[in-house]
Amino acid sequence: MITIKGLSKSYGNLRVLENVSTEINKGEVISIIGPSGCGKSTFLRCINLLERPTGGEITIDGQNILSRNADVSKLRQKMGMVFQSFNLFSHLMIIENIMLAPVSLLKVPRKQAYEEGMKYLEMVGLGAKAIAFPDELSGGQKQRAAIARTLAMQPEIVLFDEPTSALDPTMVSEVQAVIRKLAADGLTMMIVTHEMKFARDVSSRVFYMDEKGIYEDGSPAQSLIYPKNRGPGLL
Ligand code: ADP
Ligand code: MG
Repeated sequence: MITIKGLSKSYGNLRVLENVSTEINKGEVISIIGPSGCGKSTFLRCINLLERPTGGEITIDGQNILSRNADVSKLRQKMGMVFQSFNLFSHLMIIENIMLAPVSLLKVPRKQAYEEGMKYLEMVGLGAKAIAFPDELSGGQKQRAAIARTLAMQPEIVLFDEPTSALDPTMVSEVQAVIRKLAADGLTMMIVTHEMKFARDVSSRVFYMDEKGIYEDGSPAQSLIYPKNRGPGLL
Protein backbone atom coordinates (compact mmCIF):
# COMPACT_ATOMS: atom_id res chain seq x y z
CA MET A 1 0.00 0.00 0.00
CA ILE A 2 2.83 2.40 0.93
CA THR A 3 6.43 1.90 -0.18
CA ILE A 4 9.15 4.10 1.29
CA LYS A 5 12.59 4.03 -0.31
CA GLY A 6 15.65 5.88 0.91
CA LEU A 7 13.62 8.52 2.72
CA SER A 8 15.68 11.38 4.14
CA LYS A 9 14.65 14.53 5.96
CA SER A 10 16.84 17.31 7.30
CA TYR A 11 15.98 20.55 9.00
CA GLY A 12 18.89 22.74 7.97
CA ASN A 13 21.99 20.87 9.15
CA LEU A 14 20.01 18.53 11.40
CA ARG A 15 19.66 15.15 9.71
CA VAL A 16 16.58 13.58 11.26
CA LEU A 17 15.87 10.70 8.86
CA GLU A 18 18.54 9.09 6.74
CA ASN A 19 17.88 6.51 4.05
CA VAL A 20 14.78 4.97 5.63
CA SER A 21 13.14 2.19 3.62
CA THR A 22 10.10 0.10 4.49
CA GLU A 23 6.70 -0.90 3.24
CA ILE A 24 3.30 -0.81 4.82
CA ASN A 25 0.72 -3.36 3.74
CA LYS A 26 -3.04 -3.04 3.85
CA GLY A 27 -4.48 -4.11 7.21
CA GLU A 28 -1.24 -3.74 9.15
CA VAL A 29 -1.18 -1.96 12.49
CA ILE A 30 2.30 -0.60 13.05
CA SER A 31 3.33 0.94 16.35
CA ILE A 32 6.33 3.24 16.31
CA ILE A 33 8.27 3.58 19.52
CA GLY A 34 11.54 5.31 20.27
CA PRO A 35 13.11 8.10 22.30
CA SER A 36 11.78 11.63 22.21
CA GLY A 37 13.30 13.72 19.43
CA CYS A 38 14.41 10.77 17.26
CA GLY A 39 12.14 11.66 14.35
CA LYS A 40 8.91 9.70 14.84
CA SER A 41 6.64 12.68 14.17
CA THR A 42 8.83 13.75 11.28
CA PHE A 43 8.46 10.29 9.76
CA LEU A 44 4.63 10.40 9.93
CA ARG A 45 4.58 13.99 8.71
CA CYS A 46 6.68 13.05 5.69
CA ILE A 47 4.30 10.22 4.82
CA ASN A 48 1.29 12.51 4.66
CA LEU A 49 3.27 15.41 3.20
CA LEU A 50 2.94 17.78 6.12
CA GLU A 51 6.74 17.88 5.69
CA ARG A 52 8.56 17.74 2.40
CA PRO A 53 11.20 14.98 2.49
CA THR A 54 14.73 16.01 1.50
CA GLY A 55 15.27 12.80 -0.45
CA GLY A 56 13.87 9.40 -1.33
CA GLU A 57 10.61 8.07 -2.66
CA ILE A 58 7.20 7.45 -1.15
CA THR A 59 4.73 5.49 -3.26
CA ILE A 60 1.09 5.13 -2.25
CA ASP A 61 -1.12 2.75 -4.24
CA GLY A 62 1.54 2.81 -6.95
CA GLN A 63 1.69 6.59 -7.18
CA ASN A 64 4.86 8.52 -6.32
CA ILE A 65 3.57 11.18 -3.97
CA LEU A 66 6.71 13.30 -4.22
CA SER A 67 6.48 13.78 -7.96
CA ARG A 68 5.57 17.26 -9.17
CA ASN A 69 2.29 16.22 -10.72
CA ALA A 70 1.01 14.24 -7.70
CA ASP A 71 -2.47 15.31 -6.56
CA VAL A 72 -1.54 16.20 -2.99
CA SER A 73 -5.04 16.95 -1.73
CA LYS A 74 -6.35 13.64 -3.05
CA LEU A 75 -3.43 11.78 -1.46
CA ARG A 76 -4.06 13.49 1.87
CA GLN A 77 -7.66 12.30 1.75
CA LYS A 78 -6.42 8.72 1.71
CA MET A 79 -4.50 9.38 4.93
CA GLY A 80 -6.09 10.49 8.16
CA MET A 81 -3.99 11.97 10.94
CA VAL A 82 -4.79 12.10 14.64
CA PHE A 83 -2.62 14.40 16.75
CA GLN A 84 -1.74 14.59 20.41
CA SER A 85 -3.73 17.82 20.67
CA PHE A 86 -7.17 17.22 19.28
CA ASN A 87 -7.46 20.30 17.04
CA LEU A 88 -11.26 20.49 17.19
CA PHE A 89 -12.88 23.77 16.18
CA SER A 90 -14.15 25.19 19.47
CA HIS A 91 -16.93 27.27 17.89
CA LEU A 92 -18.49 24.23 16.18
CA MET A 93 -20.53 21.46 17.76
CA ILE A 94 -18.96 17.99 17.72
CA ILE A 95 -21.14 16.75 14.84
CA GLU A 96 -20.34 19.93 12.88
CA ASN A 97 -16.63 19.33 13.42
CA ILE A 98 -17.13 15.87 11.94
CA MET A 99 -19.28 17.03 8.99
CA LEU A 100 -16.99 19.90 8.02
CA ALA A 101 -14.44 18.15 5.79
CA PRO A 102 -16.85 15.70 4.12
CA VAL A 103 -19.19 18.60 3.21
CA SER A 104 -16.55 21.13 2.18
CA LEU A 105 -13.94 18.86 0.57
CA LEU A 106 -15.86 15.79 -0.60
CA LYS A 107 -19.10 17.71 -1.35
CA VAL A 108 -21.16 15.17 0.60
CA PRO A 109 -24.76 16.47 1.07
CA ARG A 110 -25.29 17.76 4.63
CA LYS A 111 -27.95 15.19 5.54
CA GLN A 112 -25.74 12.32 4.44
CA ALA A 113 -22.71 13.83 6.19
CA TYR A 114 -24.81 14.14 9.35
CA GLU A 115 -25.97 10.53 9.19
CA GLU A 116 -22.50 9.18 8.49
CA GLY A 117 -21.00 11.45 11.14
CA MET A 118 -23.49 10.13 13.72
CA LYS A 119 -22.49 6.58 12.77
CA TYR A 120 -18.84 7.37 13.54
CA LEU A 121 -19.78 9.16 16.76
CA GLU A 122 -21.73 6.07 17.87
CA MET A 123 -18.71 3.94 16.98
CA VAL A 124 -16.48 5.92 19.36
CA GLY A 125 -19.19 5.96 22.04
CA LEU A 126 -20.13 9.63 21.70
CA GLY A 127 -23.57 9.48 20.09
CA ALA A 128 -24.97 11.49 23.01
CA LYS A 129 -22.42 14.31 22.56
CA ALA A 130 -23.19 15.24 18.95
CA ILE A 131 -24.52 18.70 19.75
CA ALA A 132 -22.07 19.46 22.55
CA PHE A 133 -19.23 21.89 22.02
CA PRO A 134 -15.63 20.71 22.41
CA ASP A 135 -15.11 22.53 25.72
CA GLU A 136 -17.99 20.50 27.20
CA LEU A 137 -16.04 17.26 26.62
CA SER A 138 -13.28 15.62 28.62
CA GLY A 139 -9.87 15.13 26.99
CA GLY A 140 -10.62 11.49 26.25
CA GLN A 141 -13.95 12.39 24.68
CA LYS A 142 -12.32 15.11 22.57
CA GLN A 143 -9.76 12.67 21.26
CA ARG A 144 -12.48 10.12 20.46
CA ALA A 145 -14.36 12.88 18.60
CA ALA A 146 -11.16 13.72 16.70
CA ILE A 147 -10.86 10.06 15.70
CA ALA A 148 -14.49 10.05 14.49
CA ARG A 149 -13.76 13.18 12.46
CA THR A 150 -10.79 11.48 10.82
CA LEU A 151 -12.81 8.34 10.05
CA ALA A 152 -15.56 10.42 8.44
CA MET A 153 -13.18 11.12 5.55
CA GLN A 154 -12.95 7.35 4.97
CA PRO A 155 -9.15 7.23 4.88
CA GLU A 156 -7.28 4.13 3.72
CA ILE A 157 -4.77 4.56 6.52
CA VAL A 158 -4.80 6.53 9.76
CA LEU A 159 -1.60 7.92 11.27
CA PHE A 160 -1.73 8.56 15.03
CA ASP A 161 0.94 10.75 16.60
CA GLU A 162 0.93 10.05 20.36
CA PRO A 163 -2.87 10.04 20.57
CA THR A 164 -2.94 9.55 24.36
CA SER A 165 0.06 11.61 25.47
CA ALA A 166 -1.96 14.72 26.32
CA LEU A 167 -4.55 12.82 28.34
CA ASP A 168 -5.00 12.26 32.06
CA PRO A 169 -4.13 8.64 32.88
CA THR A 170 -7.78 7.83 33.58
CA MET A 171 -8.70 8.67 29.98
CA VAL A 172 -5.94 6.81 28.17
CA SER A 173 -7.73 3.47 28.11
CA GLU A 174 -10.98 4.76 26.55
CA VAL A 175 -9.02 6.15 23.59
CA GLN A 176 -6.92 3.01 23.32
CA ALA A 177 -10.14 0.95 23.31
CA VAL A 178 -11.34 2.84 20.24
CA ILE A 179 -8.04 2.23 18.45
CA ARG A 180 -8.17 -1.47 19.38
CA LYS A 181 -11.64 -1.67 17.88
CA LEU A 182 -10.41 -0.08 14.65
CA ALA A 183 -7.55 -2.58 14.55
CA ALA A 184 -10.02 -5.44 14.98
CA ASP A 185 -12.05 -4.01 12.09
CA GLY A 186 -8.94 -4.23 9.87
CA LEU A 187 -8.12 -0.53 9.47
CA THR A 188 -4.52 0.13 8.41
CA MET A 189 -2.82 2.29 11.04
CA MET A 190 0.53 3.64 12.13
CA ILE A 191 0.65 4.70 15.77
CA VAL A 192 3.45 6.59 17.49
CA THR A 193 3.14 5.72 21.16
CA HIS A 194 5.06 5.49 24.40
CA GLU A 195 2.58 2.95 25.79
CA MET A 196 4.48 -0.33 25.46
CA LYS A 197 1.70 -2.66 26.55
CA PHE A 198 -0.67 -1.02 24.14
CA ALA A 199 1.89 -1.33 21.33
CA ARG A 200 2.37 -5.00 22.20
CA ASP A 201 -1.36 -5.74 22.16
CA VAL A 202 -2.64 -3.69 19.25
CA SER A 203 0.11 -4.05 16.64
CA SER A 204 0.98 -6.56 13.98
CA ARG A 205 4.39 -4.88 13.65
CA VAL A 206 6.49 -2.60 15.82
CA PHE A 207 9.14 -0.17 14.57
CA TYR A 208 11.81 0.90 17.03
CA MET A 209 13.16 4.22 15.85
CA ASP A 210 16.28 5.92 17.10
CA GLU A 211 18.55 8.54 15.60
CA LYS A 212 18.07 8.78 11.82
CA GLY A 213 15.96 5.73 11.24
CA ILE A 214 14.26 2.43 12.04
CA TYR A 215 16.43 -0.02 14.01
CA GLU A 216 13.87 -2.75 14.58
CA ASP A 217 11.00 -3.79 12.35
CA GLY A 218 9.31 -6.97 13.43
CA SER A 219 6.57 -8.59 15.43
CA PRO A 220 5.84 -7.02 18.82
CA ALA A 221 7.80 -9.86 20.44
CA GLN A 222 10.83 -9.34 18.24
CA SER A 223 10.95 -5.56 18.48
CA LEU A 224 10.06 -5.33 22.16
CA ILE A 225 11.51 -8.47 23.71
CA TYR A 226 14.40 -9.81 21.64
CA PRO A 227 15.59 -6.99 19.38
CA LYS A 228 18.29 -7.94 16.85
CA ASN A 229 19.80 -4.50 16.60
CA ARG A 230 19.18 -1.96 19.26
CA GLY A 231 15.86 -1.65 20.93
CA PRO A 232 14.14 -0.96 24.17
CA GLY A 233 13.73 -4.51 25.52
CA LEU A 234 11.09 -3.01 27.75
CA LEU A 235 8.67 -5.83 28.32
P1 ADP B 1 9.88 12.75 17.88
O1 ADP B 1 8.51 12.84 17.32
O2 ADP B 1 10.48 11.38 17.77
O3 ADP B 1 9.95 13.24 19.29
P2 ADP B 1 10.47 14.84 15.95
O4 ADP B 1 10.20 14.22 14.62
O5 ADP B 1 9.42 15.74 16.47
O6 ADP B 1 10.83 13.70 17.01
O7 ADP B 1 11.82 15.65 15.87
C1 ADP B 1 13.05 15.11 15.42
C2 ADP B 1 14.12 16.17 15.49
O8 ADP B 1 13.84 17.17 14.52
C3 ADP B 1 14.23 16.88 16.82
O9 ADP B 1 15.58 17.15 17.07
C4 ADP B 1 13.43 18.14 16.60
O10 ADP B 1 13.92 19.17 17.43
C5 ADP B 1 13.71 18.43 15.14
N1 ADP B 1 12.60 19.13 14.46
C6 ADP B 1 11.33 18.69 14.37
N2 ADP B 1 10.56 19.54 13.65
C7 ADP B 1 11.38 20.55 13.28
C8 ADP B 1 11.21 21.75 12.50
N3 ADP B 1 10.01 22.05 11.97
N4 ADP B 1 12.27 22.54 12.34
C9 ADP B 1 13.48 22.23 12.87
N5 ADP B 1 13.73 21.13 13.59
C10 ADP B 1 12.70 20.28 13.80
MG1 MG C 1 6.73 13.45 18.18
